[in-house]
Amino acid sequence: MISSLIHSMIVCPDMDYSYPRITYGKGVFLYDEHGKKYMDASSGSAGVTNLGHDTGAIADVMHAQVRKAAVLPTHAVSTEVLESYLSKLVAFAGHDFVRAWTVSSGTEAVENAVKLAYQYHVLNGEPDRYKVLARWSSYHGNSVFMLDVGGMRLRRDTYARWMNNFPHLSPAYKYRKPEGMTDDEYISMLIKELEDTILENDPATIAAFVLEPVVAAALGAVPPPDSRYIKEVRALCDRYGILLIADEVLTGFGRLGANFGMDKWNTAPDIIAAGKGISAGYYPLSAIIANRKVARPFEEQKVPFLGGHTFACSPLGAAIGSYVIDYMEKERVVENAAEAGRYLSTLLKKELLPFDIVGDVRGEGLLQGIELVKDKTTKQPFPPELLLSKKIGQRCIQKGVILYPGRGSAGNNTGDHIMICPPLISSHAHMEELVAVLAESVQEEMERVLVAPGL
Ligand code: PMP
Repeated sequence: MISSLIHSMIVCPDMDYSYPRITYGKGVFLYDEHGKKYMDASSGSAGVTNLGHDTGAIADVMHAQVRKAAVLPTHAVSTEVLESYLSKLVAFAGHDFVRAWTVSSGTEAVENAVKLAYQYHVLNGEPDRYKVLARWSSYHGNSVFMLDVGGMRLRRDTYARWMNNFPHLSPAYKYRKPEGMTDDEYISMLIKELEDTILENDPATIAAFVLEPVVAAALGAVPPPDSRYIKEVRALCDRYGILLIADEVLTGFGRLGANFGMDKWNTAPDIIAAGKGISAGYYPLSAIIANRKVARPFEEQKVPFLGGHTFACSPLGAAIGSYVIDYMEKERVVENAAEAGRYLSTLLKKELLPFDIVGDVRGEGLLQGIELVKDKTTKQPFPPELLLSKKIGQRCIQKGVILYPGRGSAGNNTGDHIMICPPLISSHAHMEELVAVLAESVQEEMERVLVAPGL
């Protein structure tokens, strides 16, 4: 039935796997053609359907805007729905953010954030600032340039010949910090690595540092060791004239229990790249949001940003995005995410951490993850051929819960992880159901792998 589908993504099941065929969704649940119900605790792929399915009056909003105008010749005209949306978006971001621009995917948002940063330096008379710093085991999108900037080797290595290979830093990954180091020493080590990298590569050639506030797909919900790390990164960027770009494609729009992830650490970047939850999945919408400093040379020199895409500044996207912000504020969605996230974290620690193969439970808000290890003391991962996280994910699907399993890349010694990111409207009962299914699946899979040959 799906023989024409090009299977994509490393987390996908096998080519001959029979996918559940979904016919509709309602709230946090999906229903297949046989009427079987699944909780979408991955929120689409992933962290997208923050408000669940069939939300409020969203279909009416879409219908009304399509009747007015779905697309406009934006090189020649503007429209009220777009202008009021961008003001709302900038206000949602707070701090000293002043300008925003929309596009269609997370990849386009991060790539355009990087382009905006470089053009800012060009306008400021520093065209040699072209290098972009980022961390290994981070994901910033799937275009060749974003694979290059990002550090997710599983997706990147095949295209290695097309890369610039800008400097990459170590991930801030507390669970795998060097043996015997305190958190404070670990943060100092990471900050020193960043400063050394800046100095070794000539600070006057570096445009920006891009980071995910919580590393999602590549590591399975890894937050920074603490706010000191984020604050010192911010300070180093300022000291060397480097723009800080927060890739908030997954962490923004309430996912961490704050409007944007960086708010959790009371820090603001210079540019935010937003996506996914920005439209709650009802439209392919993303955005870049720039602060006053970044906007200034463009305003003073009256130069436009060199970003142009057919679906940039979509009025339909703006109508949907505007409804999503209003809905989130009216229904206190961010507050719910913070509260539900605390409950989910507590449940995961209580029910999953006691397993011999669960080494770590981590996350922030409704972006949580578990990491699976063969030995809790040495933190040694399971061999990749066991497909542990994938098999656990498949068991969960059979039991009616969809999660986001993954595996760290070879070379950084990370193993299997499972990311849990349910819609932000999830209740305590949903959390209890998904944790029970996950615990049962881990138990069953643990029994399988512990008798596997060679273990
Ligand atoms: N950045 C991050 C942090 C992401 O999680 C993703 C998507 N998983 C992207 C960028 C790319 O977004 P998209 O798939 O919409 O292009």
